[in-house]
Amino acid sequence: MSEFKIVKASQDAAPKPSDATLLEPWFRSRAETVATKKLQTYAERQKFADFFELNGCVRCATKNKTHGGQGFCVSCHAWFSNQLQRAMRARKDA
Ligand SMILES: [Zn+2]
Repeated sequence: MSEFKIVKASQDAAPKPSDATLLEPWFRSRAETVATKKLQTYAERQKFADFFELNGCVRCATKNKTHGGQGFCVSCHAWFSNQLQRAMRARKDA
């Protein structure tokens, strides 16, 4: 398992609004995701599925597995979820 360190970014490093919303509804609660999707166009709601169809999995680039969500295949989506939870625990404990 690799070690990583959480570093708090300054306000100057805040992403531009377009960057901040590009990955929506990543990192949102279910209720926030539902509300966000109601504000998005059809193309925006389908972007991860369309990305997967065009490019394969974000992590492993396979097109031979089922899309698990957020542009990842099912295997990599499970890996991604675990890594996110690990990162959130690290932030919580920092
Ligand atoms: Zn994958």
